Amino acid sequence: MAKITVFEAGWCTHVACVALKGAGLASCRFPSRAYLIETARGRWLWDTGYAQRFLDSTRSGLFAWYRRITPVHFDASAALVLQLREKGLRPGDLNAVMLSHFHGDHIAGLKDFAGVPTWLSGAGWNETRSLRGLAALRQGFIPDLIPAGFESSLLAMESFETIELASSLAPFARGYLAPGADGEIVLVHLPGHAAGHMGAFVNTDEGWVLLAADAAWSPRSYEELVGPSRLAHVIMQDSGAYYRTLQDLHQLHKAGGARICLTHEGAL
Ligand SMILES: [Zn+2]
Repeated sequence: MAKITVFEAGWCTHVACVALKGAGLASCRFPSRAYLIETARGRWLWDTGYAQRFLDSTRSGLFAWYRRITPVHFDASAALVLQLREKGLRPGDLNAVMLSHFHGDHIAGLKDFAGVPTWLSGAGWNETRSLRGLAALRQGFIPDLIPAGFESSLLAMESFETIELASSLAPFARGYLAPGADGEIVLVHLPGHAAGHMGAFVNTDEGWVLLAADAAWSPRSYEELVGPSRLAHVIMQDSGAYYRTLQDLHQLHKAGGARICLTHEGAL
């Protein structure tokens, strides 16, 4: 069975009701998490959290708007690569880094893992890779965070073998089998939040866990089907798809098929 270790690599603040309708105007803290998944056969990283490079890339100019919208708190000691080193792990010990999507708070640490194979949604990356300037900012994508030679390390999840999921994971029916993980990691599309947004079902001792990234910002969203405010729709890739994904999470949660882990949950 796979083991999941949770890390927090920085956090941002945001007005509560933007993330969850009706949650009030208080400024809340949203941790940026990354996850280490270990099986008998390897180790994978799910996202990278914030990193010093995020602060450097958003200090001035157009991308400073990113930080104005979501003020970021990051201490250099929280860098994921350092937190892994404390556990005795180096980037070369990882089978792959998996990216849930390409927002800056998920990819900021990528340069610390340069050369490590990276798995992502190929369709999402194709939509994102050429974005620059305002078009990039509007998608929450900071091109400076991408390491040189990144594309030679990529594997698109769409190229993986597809499998039928256990019926207990309905309404999710099919997924992409993570190579080398003995069926303990299965990737699925969770569309709506951003281009290429995906999740990972991980089979653990406590049962299936779904790493659902930013499919919601609060468990209440999928428990009670309460979305974020309309303001948040501006940064969504496709709000219709977002609410269909939320409905799927709601059904999965109600049936108890998997425990859902959101990257930024905690404040609400
Ligand atoms: Zn995001």
